[in-house]
Amino acid sequence: MKSDFHLRTTETPLREFLKEHTCPNCGALKSMNVFYEVENIPVHSVKLVHSHIEAIGFPKGNMQLGFCSSCGFISNIAFDSMKINYSSDCEETQGFSSTFNTFHRNLAQKLIGKYDLFNKDIIEIGCGKGEFLTMLCELGNNRGIGFDPAYVSMRNNSQAKERIKFIEEFYSEKYSNLKADFICCKMTLEHIPNTLEFISMLRRSIGDNLKTTVFFQIPDITRILKDFAFWDIYYEHCSYFCPVSLEKLFLQAGFEVLDLYNVYDDQYLIIEAKASKETSSISSPLQPVDDLNEIYRLVSAFSENINKRFNSWREDIRRNYRDGKKIVIWGGGSKAVSFLTTLGITEEIEYVVDINPHKNGTFIVGTGQKVVLPDFLKDYRPDIVLIMNPVYLDEIRTILFELALEPKLLPIETND
Ligand SMILES: [Zn+2]
Repeated sequence: MKSDFHLRTTETPLREFLKEHTCPNCGALKSMNVFYEVENIPVHSVKLVHSHIEAIGFPKGNMQLGFCSSCGFISNIAFDSMKINYSSDCEETQGFSSTFNTFHRNLAQKLIGKYDLFNKDIIEIGCGKGEFLTMLCELGNNRGIGFDPAYVSMRNNSQAKERIKFIEEFYSEKYSNLKADFICCKMTLEHIPNTLEFISMLRRSIGDNLKTTVFFQIPDITRILKDFAFWDIYYEHCSYFCPVSLEKLFLQAGFEVLDLYNVYDDQYLIIEAKASKETSSISSPLQPVDDLNEIYRLVSAFSENINKRFNSWREDIRRNYRDGKKIVIWGGGSKAVSFLTTLGITEEIEYVVDINPHKNGTFIVGTGQKVVLPDFLKDYRPDIVLIMNPVYLDEIRTILFELALEPKLLPIETND
């Protein structure tokens, strides 16, 4: 495999720097090669900040994505976990969207059927506000333990709540005495830098409890690379997986992979596994070796073309701004933060719309746009709505129709 990527910045002494980098996902020595860099991005994109000044001055870090030629894993080698502080003022929930709730409920129902999750013990690692764990416990009369330092109890009013214990901490080996039939972990592994260490810890915690099924859901970097979706790359996400690197991780940590598939318009990747009998033997993979070459090809194409994409987006937005068009962004989550900070868009876009009432009146970290509820648009009357996640297109169209507005809708992934 060729190992020289075009770099966006040339100041970094590449070869010296890279020699230190062993892949945290497979342990291959000096296998990480930098292919994408963005400097000074906010270290948290889901924190709520209440003033423009605080938003602009928010702590920043660098993104240097390295690609492992041995397993296909992608990691921010400049990631500093000391800069991250997860707490209850993180507003990462998607639970206010009906599209997302339907997806969540269908997934819970499918897993309950597939793994016979009735009257069972379930652990969720990184349970957020606990929506998914509560759903699993409600639908299958299960008992649950949820781990998350950002858990907020007052928002959970479910009947199943009495069967669920929430621990406001990170999951670790110290909880290996808690046995479960099903361990799930959604949208969390991408926040963990040393993935092999973490999944190996999980394998040790499961011990000889071989009937435990584990379920992990993460964003799939394949789609991000294919679509040049740089807005899906942000500081909290230090680890990026494709099917081949995710499977390799679980096999190497001593799991047998039961299933590996994409959901939610290929945005998410899911792996289901169980502990193998002998931790020393590695089970055979489901993914063909060709997939590693394919991910390498996508990484190269991303690296070569991303600057053109940046320029095209900036020119489009600035031209509309000069022409007096009012542009708003729909979706005040991490995608908006990454999109705006990576492109350096400030006064060209004044407002970001979000249906989550907890975000109303807050500010986008880094670039400082004010977050407003859809109702605000009745008076503001935008000309263009940039939709950060096309999955919500129909939902957004309906809300705008009810507000009697007809702006041009621009789902970001359609930009060429
Ligand atoms: Zn690797």
